[in-house]
Amino acid sequence: MGLIVQKFGGSSVADAEGMKRVAARIVATKKAGHQVVVVVSAMGDTTDELIELANAVTPIPQGRELDMLLTAGERISMAVLAMAINNLGFEALSFTGSQAGVITDSVHGKARIIDVTPGRIREAIDSGAIAIVAGFQGISQDTKDITTLGRGGSDTTAVALAAALDADVCEIYTDVDGVFSADPRVVPAARKLTTVTYEEMLELAAAGAKVLHLRCVEYARRYNLPIHVRSSFSPNEGTWVVENHPDGGTMEQAIISGVAHDKSEAKITVVGVPDRTGIAARIFQAIADNDINVDMIVQNVSAAATGLTDISFTVSKAEGQKATGVLQRIQGEVGFASLIYDDTIGKLSLVGAGMRSHPGVTATFFAAMADSGVNIEMISTSEIRISIIVKEADLERAAKAAHTAFGLDADQIEAVVYGGTGR
Ligand code: ADP
Ligand code: ASP
Ligand code: MG
Repeated sequence: MGLIVQKFGGSSVADAEGMKRVAARIVATKKAGHQVVVVVSAMGDTTDELIELANAVTPIPQGRELDMLLTAGERISMAVLAMAINNLGFEALSFTGSQAGVITDSVHGKARIIDVTPGRIREAIDSGAIAIVAGFQGISQDTKDITTLGRGGSDTTAVALAAALDADVCEIYTDVDGVFSADPRVVPAARKLTTVTYEEMLELAAAGAKVLHLRCVEYARRYNLPIHVRSSFSPNEGTWVVENHPDGGTMEQAIISGVAHDKSEAKITVVGVPDRTGIAARIFQAIADNDINVDMIVQNVSAAATGLTDISFTVSKAEGQKATGVLQRIQGEVGFASLIYDDTIGKLSLVGAGMRSHPGVTATFFAAMADSGVNIEMISTSEIRISIIVKEADLERAAKAAHTAFGLDADQIEAVVYGGTGR
């Protein structure tokens, strides 16, 4: 007998039929003799609809209240799923994140888990029940307010609980058969990866492959907890996220494991910045002081005649308004000329551990972009990733071109998208 944590995403529980299908799957695991803890997301696009509702009454909802609103989505799911399991003759008890002992910091909208004390979950499963936990939420240690972990955060709830309960495996059930070499909704020729390492998955998640939440991969790596990403709509074996590929590096490693795209960022250009020591520090300190994460940064060479330069950087679209507001407040002090806000950009990334030993990757990548007429606006790299910013309208074409250029296209279409709206 083992302890299995299973997480079901919104598209898997989009309606009553989905709830019943998932309930049957959970019961089958229980019948096989395992203890089962389930983490569930809000039904379908509920979270997006709740955000729209908030925005319909105020342009900038207060973080505390928005979190309280959004966590309602997962509460609906957990209770409905528990009822569906009860209806199959099995005991199921639902718990909010707070009841499950998910303790976070107090940053609303993107709280970090700082501790998990799953006493009530342990009690429930030891008594023979199936525990159902609302994903994506916790309670702040300091303020005791309800927090959310950021979009897609239910994956992180699942892995954090699995680590705290010392589970044998964390299964992430979604609407595709696993982690693919690209988002199957955008690149139909994507291939399913049998395994992907924590390192590669971290880069893919950070680059926008939303099949797994970034923090969930960080957590799994820290606790060396295997994640099995698979479909709740098919019995197929999915993708294992693990420390090392099982061939132990004896097989020649693929140069590129995947292509990721991201439409969630916006580009801010600070125009006419005095090219003096300390100015960039001042700009990015102000941004950081407001808890805004910056992704890519580019500074132009300053025009000799004027001593002025431009600094461009990307932030999440959700924080775009806040970031421009912060910069406007320091405009007088820093002395820049103006701001340009562009939310019609997209980010394309190539990820692969084989990049370390293959110097030609950048050249092949850029040639593929040139051949398909895609202009590159910004570039950033890590040891195993290259990311570029392009026009949003070019993004999907660019993703397909990169996938083909690195020989990743499957011979026959194998990617199936079973559900979800891709929102
Ligand atoms: P859930 O509601 O189950 O959490 P998500 O929508 O968050 O599901 O994540 C699953 C989606 O992630 C897929 O439907 C797919 O469109 C997208 N995705 C992006 N990149 C990848 C990838 N490399 N492999 C598989 N799916 C991906
Ligand atoms: N319901 C939340 C979201 O849509 C959390 C999740 O699905 O993981 O972002
Ligand atoms: Mg998700």
